[in-house]
Amino acid sequence: MAQGEVTNAVRAAVSPRFGRSSRDIVSLGIACAAIIMFVGNGGTALPQIVRNLAGDGSGPDRLLINALLLNIALVIFGWRRYRDLSSEIAERRKAEAFARELSEHDALTGCLNRRSISAAASALATAAHARGDLAGFIMLDLDRFKQVNDVNGHAAGDCLLSEAADRIGQALPPGALLARLGGDEFAVILPFSPARADEVERLAEALIAKVAQPVQFGDFELETTISAGISRTEPGQPADIQTQLHMADIAMYHAKRNGRNRFAWFEPNMESEQRFRSEMAAGIRRGIPLGEFVPYYEKQMDLETGTIAGFEMLARWNSPKLGMVNPDIFIPVAEEIGVIAELSECLIRQALRDAKNWDPKLTLSVNISPIQLRDPWFAQKLLKILLEANFPPSRLEIEVTESCLHENVGLVRTLITSLKNQGITVSLDDFGTGYSSLSQLRTLPFDRIKIDRSFVMSLLEDKDSATIIQSIISLGEGLGLPITAEGIESEAVLAELRRFGKFKGQGYLYGFPEPADRTEATLAQLDLLLEPPIAPEISPQQRTAR
Ligand code: C2E
Ligand code: CA
Ligand code: CA
Repeated sequence: MAQGEVTNAVRAAVSPRFGRSSRDIVSLGIACAAIIMFVGNGGTALPQIVRNLAGDGSGPDRLLINALLLNIALVIFGWRRYRDLSSEIAERRKAEAFARELSEHDALTGCLNRRSISAAASALATAAHARGDLAGFIMLDLDRFKQVNDVNGHAAGDCLLSEAADRIGQALPPGALLARLGGDEFAVILPFSPARADEVERLAEALIAKVAQPVQFGDFELETTISAGISRTEPGQPADIQTQLHMADIAMYHAKRNGRNRFAWFEPNMESEQRFRSEMAAGIRRGIPLGEFVPYYEKQMDLETGTIAGFEMLARWNSPKLGMVNPDIFIPVAEEIGVIAELSECLIRQALRDAKNWDPKLTLSVNISPIQLRDPWFAQKLLKILLEANFPPSRLEIEVTESCLHENVGLVRTLITSLKNQGITVSLDDFGTGYSSLSQLRTLPFDRIKIDRSFVMSLLEDKDSATIIQSIISLGEGLGLPITAEGIESEAVLAELRRFGKFKGQGYLYGFPEPADRTEATLAQLDLLLEPPIAPEISPQQRTAR
């Protein structure tokens, strides 16, 4: 149906229903009355007319003939009117059904929409409870859908959405409901027997697997995954649809945070976790302009000579509410709420200011989130920061984790190449924890591999760790890439590592990460500072405390 037709149909359907069926009855009544009168009149007039035509008897009564003609006209008129009205009504009914369809269903995917799901789900849950069954709610959300839209355009996004809806719809058991709640969010509601809760789980798994299959879009193959959260009604308790959807939503976010492309059942503690996260998100947003995020520095040692080669900057959040927070806690939230680039740039600026006063031999390593690597302008932005700080790019080292290689490898390759062209060094961090293939590694121009700390820390106890470290070292040799071992905590581990060859290392054996002033003090003692440390500024609070 064309757009104009749709509008007309909807307009017709929603116009006042005035006299539709009554006019229908009136015209049918006129037709019937006329037929009855025709039968009555005709019974008298027709024999007279026939007799007259046969030349037998006087002419028919004029009045009767007129009445008969009027009758015929009325029969024709009434019948036509009845027929017209009937087809008009059929049209209207069709338009009305279409308007209902539009208001209850999502135009792109044909699924139920947010407005219509409540009533349908409520009816489903009530019927399920009456049978002694329960209702399961699966909330589904495509992973990184925004990226597909941004990179491939909205038509590709629409194609992915409708294909996902089709695949989900086809996998559902009879009696299940599917709604698109908006954007890339879908909800499935289904009845299940309390003894067979695993069926809901298996369905969630099947949906996740189906959506993960590539989607053909023109000459491209689009790929996406989906995360699911599941909640269920309680026996003997009335089902509140909005609460169920909310719980499934919380579980879905939990699944996303645990790596996406998976499902999670709702658990009550998730709600407080979610609240904690949103408070933290607000705190992070507030804290960036207030300078609450500060760089700490961890020594990177040349194991051969036992001297400091440089420092790795590790972010800390000096939160007024939570105290000193480690990056493992706040980085994922900053990534999730889209402020990681802003936060990272702010930390890098501070680190460059600090490192400018260090001996120029010393390097500065900074960790970069995979999200930042998705920005095609990342290299340019970093160069601008370096120029503003007047910091030589050759002293800067970027650390990217293996997980970024699962994203757009082409983009990552271009980015690493342009960083290298500017003289910046690029290391592959946490090596051994991801699944980067050897062939991928060979095509990516990294300058260094960092062995993940988990292998180093367990080197003495775990034979496998030793084997892994050994193979990473020979891989590095084969590719001509120098190695850094992280997480050296003891002299014993250091001695063992030294047996494997020459490389850089870092870990608590050389001290914990420290803030800028303490790092300066350490460097001053080693005569590795350009200018003597400036006496720390006294904050107004400290002044009043004295
Ligand atoms: P990472 O890059 O692997 O950093 C090393 C982490 O291991 C640091 O934890 C450090 O304190 C810890 N560590 C160092 N030596 C030892 C050791 O001998 N034993 C043990 N048990 N741990 C050791 P931290 O500072 O909590 O950082 C955790 C992770 O957060 C980092 O892992 C890095 O991936 C990320 N991160 C830190 N700062 C930033 C940042 O500015 N941006 C981004 N995107 N990520 C950051
Ligand atoms: Ca690192
Ligand atoms: Ca690491």
